[in-house]
Amino acid sequence: MSNRTIQVDDKLYDYILSASSREPDVLRRLREETSALGTLFRMQISPEQGQFMFLLAQLVRARRTLEVGVFTGYSALSVALALPDDGQILACDVSEEWTSIGRRYWDEAGVGHKIDLRIAPAMETLDELIQDGEHGTFDFAFIDADKRGYAGYFERALVLLRTGGLIAIDNTLWSGRVADAESNDDDTIAIRSFNKKLHHDDRVSLSLVPIGDGLTLAMKR
Ligand code: CA
Repeated sequence: MSNRTIQVDDKLYDYILSASSREPDVLRRLREETSALGTLFRMQISPEQGQFMFLLAQLVRARRTLEVGVFTGYSALSVALALPDDGQILACDVSEEWTSIGRRYWDEAGVGHKIDLRIAPAMETLDELIQDGEHGTFDFAFIDADKRGYAGYFERALVLLRTGGLIAIDNTLWSGRVADAESNDDDTIAIRSFNKKLHHDDRVSLSLVPIGDGLTLAMKR
């Protein structure tokens, strides 16, 4: 026993899933279809992270949420299932191809009407929302897109969230490369600098949760 976060090896990971996974069949099938895309599959969040985000959305009683980076729609579907029937995810992505896979499963799960997909650069969509006076109208945001855009997405999400709203930012441990002094590619540098900026940002309460590839939670104060 130790007072630091436990190391999760394959055996323990399998146990976590066997002891707690509630992944609905529709999500499992979406995950399987996405896995057929090969290495791109890494862009999809893990099932235990999807379940965690479902819980987070319920905890903040989310009605209206943002998603920056949809890919094939696993995270959007996880959150959509947690929203009330009149809830809404405003989902930003630039790919018709990948999001169209998600759309089929969203509709099949009966939550397609909750997901307002905007195919455009997310920065533009978020700026339009701010220009339209949507400040403080969102309860939850998930940021999982190009890593060099993180700081900009975060600032916009913070404006659009209500006080007490939660922003979840994905891949903040970046396969451990953030802690490897030899890793200095652009994405690693961007995530490292984003993490550093957030560390003492007193506009939010903060926790970097080692689930999936690292999920930072920031609650707007
Ligand atoms: Ca991700």
